[in-house]
Amino acid sequence: MITVGHPPEQMMFQLSLRRRGISDQSVLRAMEAVPRDLFVATSDRAHAWRDTALAIACGQTISQPFVVAYMTEQLQLKPGHRVLEIGTGSGYQAAILSKLCREVLSIERYRTLADSARVLLERLELLNVEVMLGDGFEVSANVGSFDRIIVTAAMEEVPDALLERLEPEGVLIAPVGPHSGVQTLIRFRKTDDGFERKPLVDVRFVPALKGIAREM
Ligand code: SAH
Repeated sequence: MITVGHPPEQMMFQLSLRRRGISDQSVLRAMEAVPRDLFVATSDRAHAWRDTALAIACGQTISQPFVVAYMTEQLQLKPGHRVLEIGTGSGYQAAILSKLCREVLSIERYRTLADSARVLLERLELLNVEVMLGDGFEVSANVGSFDRIIVTAAMEEVPDALLERLEPEGVLIAPVGPHSGVQTLIRFRKTDDGFERKPLVDVRFVPALKGIAREM
């Protein structure tokens, strides 16, 4: 087998995404182009290409690659889109988004995570991503509006303040449900007379918590 530039574990990574049903070529290419091993803890580098969530700083997690690919595919991104992410974490999902749209704003409540994600994204020359310290429950209208919004922490309910940031026909995807246990990914689409709401699949995310974290 010829594996120039693609170690076997990276080829398996692509294969497992396809096998699990990811078929959007642009999403698969983005997943191929972003080095996940740089977004995980140094001690986890060897596991970076496995299809599992891994622990990162501040007691948070980098999501499972399949879930990242699935949510990205469901967003149906266009190159001109402006995208908001709530829950930067490692910055991995933001990096994937940055390959598929015009501009990403990613908000994180831990300063440590926001700072390290910002540094890494800059190092990878993903210059269309801005990382901001903030609270996804209190997103100010000053940030403008977005074609797509992705929430990567579990919310018991999606706040109106967030839905209000959507452009007409805009899409928001969020894990909605109890903090402990299983949530359902819900896809909201803004229509002329409100929001269309479609449940997708069951997932498990770390909870979205209110306020900027007091600890680092
Ligand atoms: N998308 C991340 C994984 C996110 S884990 C990645 O690709 O690595 C969920 C993240 O959401 C955590 O970093 C957590 O601190 C953050 N978070 C939780 N509640 C939040 C809130 N209210 N506002 C912003 N970020 C929040």
